[in-house]
Amino acid sequence: MTDTGESGGTVRRPVYMDYQATTPTDPRVVAAMMPYFTDKPGNPASRSHVFGWEAEAAVEAARVQVAEIIGADSKEIIFTSGATESNNLALKGAAAFYGAKKNHIIALETDHKCVIEACRRLAGDGFEITFLPVRADGLIDLDRLGDAIGARTLMVSAMAAHNEIGVIQPMAEIGAICRERGVLFHSDCAQAVGKMPLDVNRMRIDLMSISAHKVYGPMGLGALYVRRRPRVRLVAQIDGGGQERGLRSGTLPTPLCVGLGEACRLGGAQMATEAERLLALKQRLHDGIVARLDGVVLNGEERRRLPGNLNLSFADIEADSLMTAMPDLAVSSGSACTSASVEPSYVLRALGLGDAAANSSIRFGLGRFTTEAEVDFAIETVATAVDGLRAGVSTWRAKPSRVAVKAKS
Ligand SMILES: *Cc1c(COP(=O)(O)O)cnc(C)c1O
Repeated sequence: MTDTGESGGTVRRPVYMDYQATTPTDPRVVAAMMPYFTDKPGNPASRSHVFGWEAEAAVEAARVQVAEIIGADSKEIIFTSGATESNNLALKGAAAFYGAKKNHIIALETDHKCVIEACRRLAGDGFEITFLPVRADGLIDLDRLGDAIGARTLMVSAMAAHNEIGVIQPMAEIGAICRERGVLFHSDCAQAVGKMPLDVNRMRIDLMSISAHKVYGPMGLGALYVRRRPRVRLVAQIDGGGQERGLRSGTLPTPLCVGLGEACRLGGAQMATEAERLLALKQRLHDGIVARLDGVVLNGEERRRLPGNLNLSFADIEADSLMTAMPDLAVSSGSACTSASVEPSYVLRALGLGDAAANSSIRFGLGRFTTEAEVDFAIETVATAVDGLRAGVSTWRAKPSRVAVKAKS
């Protein structure tokens, strides 16, 4: 079904506006991956024939591409199954290696569920965990971080760009504090890689988690950057054939590795132009919604955020009802990983929002394939649905179908 928006563009429905949950794989990435599913079937660990050598060469080329986008050396990149595994390996692997000497870990209250839960597991194993509160704008309080670091602090974990509210933490400042205090700095950069400039040396990052499917690469692959100078030591969490320098056993999925490499290459090449385009689209979405509706509040710091992320609270609205009223617009409330539950977002609660405000919040995630016409469609859809819900009109469902009728004419 198509709809002609005000800008004259054509919109194919439903419209995907949930790029922080996952990004579509870029067709150029798919094209790069394809031969490694079929024509080039080698196991990169096979030493005895050309198929294995070819697969290994492809994986190593991809490793270089991943390293390049974060200013690392390819020897410092470990392929994993995703950012969830990378975060677990970073936290639990370092805890296992250094735990006898240092048993305190600091993470942000707003870190991703997989960081929070990995920390909770470590707490059960006797580690002391500090979940550092953030400010009302979602950013870290650097003084508070400095105060939280003690003699037994092993690591600070801080997400670079937030999956739910999009805010970008002051990475270089956090890294400087960690380096000065002799503490490891781990960052979950699943949302940041390919979207904003990252440099492990300038930011003094020791461990960095990466996810392919957040950067227009395939689902099921991630990476962990592990600093070599000074060397960061981890205890492997998966034992087996000793792949990935013994840190992550298991056959490397050649096509997926190639996909992440190509995704990083593309992300790096078009980062600046893409950010500019998304910023303009996001501004258009924000301004359009605010012009049509009262009682709309932006969550998270306004300027230091992912160009494609908008998180809005709508007064007197329940996000779940709003999303039900917009079947042609794919957005989310809370983080995707918890959207099945009705618990208010722990992230928005950490920003100081009450239950009602947290439950009235919607995340709009714009990305590489979002068009201006889709943004205009989203403005119209949100405004119509919110107006209807606020008016308590039981027949508000008639409104979306009016749009559909108009489209046919
Ligand atoms: C998506 C995401 C994860 C989980 O990544 P997977 O590759 O899906 O395991 C972790 N952290 C952040 C910030 C994310 O956005």
